Amino acid sequence: MPKIPFNRPYMTGKELFYIAEAHFHGKLAGDGPYTKRCHAWLESKSPPGRALLTHSCTAALEMAAMLLDIRPGDEVIMPSYTFVSTANAFVLRGAVPVFVDIRPDTLNIDETQIEQAITARTRAIVPVHYAGVACEMDTILDIARRRRLAVVEDAAQGLMASYKGRPLGALGELGTFSFHETKNIISGEGGALLVNDERLLERAEVLREKGTDRSRFFRGQVDKYTWQDVGSSYLPGELIAAFLWAQMEEADSITARRMSLWNAYHEAFAVLEAEGLLRRPIIPADCRHNAHMYYVLLPSLAQRTALIERLAALDVHSVFHYVPLHTSPFGREHSRAVGTLRNTNELSERLVRLPLWVGLAEHQGEVIERIVRTVRGLSHG
Ligand SMILES: *Cc1c(COP(=O)(O)O)cnc(C)c1O
Repeated sequence: MPKIPFNRPYMTGKELFYIAEAHFHGKLAGDGPYTKRCHAWLESKSPPGRALLTHSCTAALEMAAMLLDIRPGDEVIMPSYTFVSTANAFVLRGAVPVFVDIRPDTLNIDETQIEQAITARTRAIVPVHYAGVACEMDTILDIARRRRLAVVEDAAQGLMASYKGRPLGALGELGTFSFHETKNIISGEGGALLVNDERLLERAEVLREKGTDRSRFFRGQVDKYTWQDVGSSYLPGELIAAFLWAQMEEADSITARRMSLWNAYHEAFAVLEAEGLLRRPIIPADCRHNAHMYYVLLPSLAQRTALIERLAALDVHSVFHYVPLHTSPFGREHSRAVGTLRNTNELSERLVRLPLWVGLAEHQGEVIERIVRTVRGLSHG
């Protein structure tokens, strides 16, 4: 068996063909034919949202913060167990992230602790759909409606997953996706903003086009474009969109292949879970996930560290994440935590992510065998 990396970006084979076509036609700036195809695809997968490609999920989150007019001193509720961009996009506008603990089953924000985090300064809730498994959105949307807060879904990992049959990213006012090479559908770096509140769409287009109404100009709705608002350059060029289009065309088969890897891990580890050696992911009945990630929870940090080291020695590369944001050097100074964040602190130390990429299938039997053997060995010191 060769060395098994944690991730190997999958390419369908058509990416360079579409890039060559964009090159041939000489349309290289953003919002050309490939971008339009990607928008239409995203909109078909995530109704009723309107899609705008961005350079990254980070960029889409920054746009969300701008669109909501987040100001210095505003508070935004989110989990501490997430990627830095969830918080940083709002910190960039002067907001204070307010961290709420996660649920032990899904590792998603604990919706029952959100209300006690709300103050007069709270503006938004940012649920993160960890591993493509939905947060308890009905409760979160209900709190937001009653307390007049916006909901921005960090659906970086949630493309093509759903909650009670509704697509992730399309449930809050705004949703954000990532096409980073570690996600399911990729363009190296890349992302999208999903605008689910129609009233925000026109301004989203302006913010994305350097604060101008160039999008309206291109549609022939105005005869020149001018400076309208704050903004930045958030739209990717056509070469990125051409690459991404090749991925979108095969998104269903990519998801199906990831799902079969996910299921193989899940079945193989049932016996280890029964023996109390690890805990497997829990998928609530209301959630259809997208096989973004397979992780296990070990009994302790020491066992997690030992597992990662011993698997590396057996050529299987596994990783952990996240260092909770409230414990990070920047987060300690610039955020507020609600309660002890006990689950966040504990579970983040016990989690291991296993290799999961299209193409792993031919080695997965052996990978599983090595993992099972190693996990059994951990309990004997
Ligand atoms: C990957 C990820 C991001 C950042 O995505 P980029 O496209 O790299 O900016 C943000 N939030 C979560 C939860 C992620 O997993």
